[in-house]
Amino acid sequence: TDTTQTPAMTDGFHLVIDALKHNDIDTIFGLVGIPITDLCRLAQAQGMRFIGFRHEQHAGNAAAIAGYITQKPGICMTVSAPGFLNGLTALANATTNCFPMILISGSSEREIVDLQQGDYEEMDQLNAAKPYCKASYRINRAEDIGIGIARAIRAAVSGRPGGVYLDLPAQLLAQTLDAEKGRKSLVKVVDPVPRQLPAPESVQRALDLLKSAKKPLILLGKGAAYAQADADIRAFVENSGIPYLPMSMAKGLLPDTHAQSASAARSFVLAEADVVVLIGARLNWLLSHGKGKTWGSVPKQFIQIDISPTEIDSNVPIAAPLIGDIGSCVSALLKGIETNGHSKPDAAWTGAIYERKDKNLTKMAATLDLNPSPMNFHSALRAIRDILKTRPDINVVNEGANTLDYARSIIDMYEPRKRFDSGTWGIMGIGMGYAIGAAVISGKPVVAIEGDSAFGFSGMELETICRYDLPIVTIVFNNNGVYKGTDPNLNPNNANDVPVTSFVKGARYDKMIEAFGGIGYHVTTPAEMTAALSKAIASGKPSLINAVIDPNAGTESGRLTNLNPQSGKK
Ligand code: ADP
Repeated sequence: TDTTQTPAMTDGFHLVIDALKHNDIDTIFGLVGIPITDLCRLAQAQGMRFIGFRHEQHAGNAAAIAGYITQKPGICMTVSAPGFLNGLTALANATTNCFPMILISGSSEREIVDLQQGDYEEMDQLNAAKPYCKASYRINRAEDIGIGIARAIRAAVSGRPGGVYLDLPAQLLAQTLDAEKGRKSLVKVVDPVPRQLPAPESVQRALDLLKSAKKPLILLGKGAAYAQADADIRAFVENSGIPYLPMSMAKGLLPDTHAQSASAARSFVLAEADVVVLIGARLNWLLSHGKGKTWGSVPKQFIQIDISPTEIDSNVPIAAPLIGDIGSCVSALLKGIETNGHSKPDAAWTGAIYERKDKNLTKMAATLDLNPSPMNFHSALRAIRDILKTRPDINVVNEGANTLDYARSIIDMYEPRKRFDSGTWGIMGIGMGYAIGAAVISGKPVVAIEGDSAFGFSGMELETICRYDLPIVTIVFNNNGVYKGTDPNLNPNNANDVPVTSFVKGARYDKMIEAFGGIGYHVTTPAEMTAALSKAIASGKPSLINAVIDPNAGTESGRLTNLNPQSGKK
């Protein structure tokens, strides 16, 4: 073409990709279809990595965990209406967990949607997304794509991270614009996650309270892991000598084998501590809302570090709030104890913890040493633990009821941001999405420890794992049902009815992955588990281990039995 006659043009498709690349975003998790297929093709043609899924929820979960690992928003791309709604589940989950992600969905014709005239996949996505994420934007003009993407990125990662919805009408992608004008419209986000320093008087208040503590405790949440302030957090724990408790995704921030870890004496320290330093952990249901039996009768005073001011006093009064980014807050406390001098906690306190810890660990070791037949959660997890101990670089995904509860306490973590689990909602369905996101973004192997029920939600993504040849080993703890596989059928009129919690007995999940060229293993003993897992990890190939677990092992809802409503009716 003669460029001296007609000025070079660009279009919405190109500008979206250019704007993402301009902000160093190089990966998209998504599922193609009208109107985004060409957008995804173009992304790949322009050198971006496109990981195509079989269901949008899992693409969204992959984007969310990528955001958690990298502090950059994970991108999920979907079609309109149902595709968007599937992705929205993941966006809501990401927002709840404070993971930065952007859900970009194509949408149908505005004129028709807004008059509700019945378009193909008609839905007011912008408003549907609003209650479930941090921000929801629509770009209507090609010249606004640069600023729109910049806005979405900043909204996702600044302050408390979370999910952002970005609505791209089909027409926008087709719009054309002078190429030079388009290039100039791109925006590079400057300092997307600015440091937020705590006020000096807040730091002093926290230090004074800490000094008065007789039985201090540090509680590390996944916000602390997300913040990537690993060295300062470790120095604060070690220099202060205060025992600490990691929430499940903060495991590995310091190695679980650390002498100051109070994990094995969890109930004891929560009940007995007098001053608790919360670092990126909310006092939600996972911490019994900071009150009640779990927290014992010893009066508590909290120091709470969080980026979000409204998190303070959410459930119980907070004596010393510290608002700012975790890196800055922890380094301020660290400096404080270095300059003011800090006496390590009383040996009476740390000694009592170590005593409990010892007792509980000895008891646990004895349980783990048993070799019941059939294999149960403990003996299977012992085998897995012993292998993962030698590979601290491996990412661990974990979901289920009993599978989650037992694995969380039995599998030690040694490095930060390597454990990804059911999170703040305590949900199932994150398994394969998180596994794929973690494998793609970290370039490291993943072992996904899944209950059979949990695995079912995302099982079709085995095809995705095989298609991209990802080093993911999925272990399905197969006990024939939800919670357990032994529930009776309660239908008095049909002896053949299927119990509400049961699955096909003796299912061979290992055969599923073989359908896509992956490697399946079927194991019934810890020794077979050891052999299969070692081989699977060494191969670096997509693998699935069907681990037959005693159908009688486990409890209803794992450790959440108390959340099942109990009627007062006699
Ligand atoms: P857990 O489930 O592990 O207890 P939560 O998800 O409940 O952790 O808590 C994480 C907290 O960390 C949230 O309240 C969030 O606002 C906060 N947070 C996340 N990132 C940062 C950061 N960089 N600086 C300060 N606070 C943060």
